[in-house]
Amino acid sequence: SNAEIGLIGLGTMGAALALNIADNGFDIAVWNRTSTVTKDFHANAGELADKITPTETLEELVAAIAEPRAIILMVPAGQPVDDQIAALRPLLGENDLIIDAGNANFHDTNRRAEEAGDLPFLGIGVSGGEEGARFGPSIMGGGKREYWDRVAHILTAISAKHEDTACATWMGEGGAGHFVKAVHNGIEYADMQMIAEVYGIMRDGLGMDNAAISDTFAKWDKGPLKSYLIEISGKVAGAIDPKTGAPMLDIIVDAAGQKGTGRWTVIEAQLLAAPIPAIEAAVVARNLSSQLEARAAGEDLFGTAPRQLPHDALSLDTLEQALMAGKILCYAQGFDMITKASEEFGWALPLPAIAQVWREGCIIRSDMLDDMSTALAEDENRNLMFAPTFADKLKSNHDALRQVVAQGALHGIALPALSSGLTYFDAMRTARGTANMIQGQRDFFGAHGFARTDGGSGHHGPWGNN
Ligand code: NDP
Repeated sequence: SNAEIGLIGLGTMGAALALNIADNGFDIAVWNRTSTVTKDFHANAGELADKITPTETLEELVAAIAEPRAIILMVPAGQPVDDQIAALRPLLGENDLIIDAGNANFHDTNRRAEEAGDLPFLGIGVSGGEEGARFGPSIMGGGKREYWDRVAHILTAISAKHEDTACATWMGEGGAGHFVKAVHNGIEYADMQMIAEVYGIMRDGLGMDNAAISDTFAKWDKGPLKSYLIEISGKVAGAIDPKTGAPMLDIIVDAAGQKGTGRWTVIEAQLLAAPIPAIEAAVVARNLSSQLEARAAGEDLFGTAPRQLPHDALSLDTLEQALMAGKILCYAQGFDMITKASEEFGWALPLPAIAQVWREGCIIRSDMLDDMSTALAEDENRNLMFAPTFADKLKSNHDALRQVVAQGALHGIALPALSSGLTYFDAMRTARGTANMIQGQRDFFGAHGFARTDGGSGHHGPWGNN
């Protein structure tokens, strides 16, 4: 019983995480439901095999780990996690810690933490895919702080680093870590969608070929938009299909898949009454993209929109600025949702630290998160769009976003996330909006009452019907 930690589930993520842990000098014991997988994993672990103890039964796994034990679960989210906990708990001591590192819904993590009672349990969000898990993921921890502290040295050692800061942080009790991971995924959806929309403008509006689009993303990746998603978008646009020799992008069907974590974020935002329109638009866009037949029928019925923009209607610099404004607004929405969740669930989610945890290792890693972390550290409760650094960027770039959205509208190019971002911006800078009409309507048909601009609430109008 020498291993410092155990791991269950040697699939894509679990195997990569186990190698990462061993690579950082920790002895680890592993178990997988199908034991041939465990054997193959160990046989292929190369020089790390010495640090890894393969086991064939759960009892063997438990016996191989030093007390008090810590065991990571990396199995599919949902029922498999509950089943695995039920099988493992009876074999463990009351000080032994179970860590669910899969993509759990944070409500499930809240429930599991409650069901565990005094038995140690953590739910941690792990981002960065297989590559991240192997060489440095971004880790968002949730559960009792004392349990986090027990394994923090291992989790920070294996995590991504930005300069000297580890991208692994305790977020709060219960499902806090999985909640932050869900918002991360929501932002990821919107960031990807905005990039896809800008690609659409370049392809259909400006008539650029894939090589030119690839070069543009590569150029932007050297400026303020520098990020993993811009980098890979350039590479995707530049790739050639080995089978046909055609640009890879032209061969890929335009129906986006999803595992549902973006949807969770949107559902949760609605429950929190947190406005995240750009993220909602991105989830809607994925749902809509899968309606391939209906879209083809729509093009037959209504005709192809002109799409091609007039010469000089938009420059590439304008597109870059629009994407910058859209990105800021999308992150502002995501962080604002985190603030709302902190209030609602009694967490103290550390916004500047969250921006830092996302700085490296995860899909939304970008240079801009540095400035976001700094801006959030100045005042966590202020919407990011009001932080001076970002307010200045919005002041100089929102007109570009407006021009892009306007050109899209005039020429039939759908821009759901960018236009939602712009609408959010305009709504957030309108001191007197139009909800007075909503309140009038509500009072008219339902006597719901309204507040008056000259003071007092619960007033009714002279509608003559109540
Ligand atoms: P895989 O499908 O590659 O692996 C699943 C693993 O879980 C296998 O080891 C499998 O064992 C085991 N397993 C499946 N069902 C059960 C069960 N009922 N009881 C016990 N063990 C079971 O999944 P991933 O590694 O991709 O994902 C694992 C978790 O990580 C998921 O929650 C996923 O959402 C999350 N995640 C995945 C990311 C990714 O990029 N892939 C990124 C971040 C998080 P067996 O060999 O016996 O089938």
